[in-house]
This record gives sequence, C-alpha cells and structure tokens, in this order.
Amino acid sequence: MLTFYSGFRSNNKILKKIIDNITIFALKKEIPDILDRKLNFNFVFTKNLFNKEDVFGYTLYFFPNSYSIGLDICLDAKFFIRVLIHELIHCKQYIKKELKEINKNGKCLYIYKNKEYVFEQITKQEWSENEWEKDALEQEDEYLKYIDKYCREDITCLHRLLH
Ligand SMILES: [Zn+2]
Repeated sequence: MLTFYSGFRSNNKILKKIIDNITIFALKKEIPDILDRKLNFNFVFTKNLFNKEDVFGYTLYFFPNSYSIGLDICLDAKFFIRVLIHELIHCKQYIKKELKEINKNGKCLYIYKNKEYVFEQITKQEWSENEWEKDALEQEDEYLKYIDKYCREDITCLHRLLH
C-alpha cells in the first residue's frame, strides 16, 4: 500500500507519519495483509472542510485500487482521529467488497452486504441512515480502542500537533 498527501499542512512530515501508522493499524485489524496489497490512499487535508462542505470527512473510491480520504484538518486531535477512523472503516468496507458502487442501466447503485440501494433513494434520506454508515458509526469505538492500544505514541503526538 502507498499513501499520498495533499492540501493544507500536507507537507508536515510528522503528521503524515502519524496518519500512515494509524491507517496501517486500523486496516490491519480486519485485513492483516494490508501492507502487501497494491492500494493507494490519497489523503486530502482541507482547512475548515466542515464549513465548506458540511462534512468532517469523506471517502471516495476510484476503481480499481485507489481511495481518496478527505479530512478537515482544523479539528482537535481527538475528533480528528475519530473522523479518520470512520473514513478508514469505509475504506475497509470497499476493500473487503462489503460496499460497492456500480452503474446498472445508467443508474448509480450502492451495494452493501449484497443488498442494492439506488442512489436517488439514498439521497432522499439522511446519509447517516444508510446501513454502511450505521455500521461504520457502530464500529468506531471498537477501532478507537484498538488504535489507542497500538498507536499510543502517535496519538499523543497528534494531540500536540492538532488542537
Ligand atoms: Zn461515513
């Protein structure tokens, strides 16, 4: 796997190293061979992303093996880690093919755990009501505990960098 960084503060080597480590550990939890896989993770840092886009983070999947993870870089460390973990759970869903986006007869479909969801219907409800969102939200705490155990130093360092 490879990581790339762009946007505000993306030239900060320490910040990149910390996010590299957290990413590796978070994904290793369910995908032990993550480091051997040919995957690209593009982290895009945006200053006050929430004010601009109304989201703290997002994940976009680009066929066949690239993931773009947008993050609001102006959050405090604790919340930033939660958002990062949340987006990495979405990456995990895509990598394990639990979540897929497909085009069928000109319609954009999300397939989550073998169930089809039509994009137009999805957008009519709260985004957080989607099954893959509910699952990601539910898994956050368990992931945070795991990361806290294996990346304690990185988290401490991140608290110094982001506040
Ligand atoms: Zn989400």
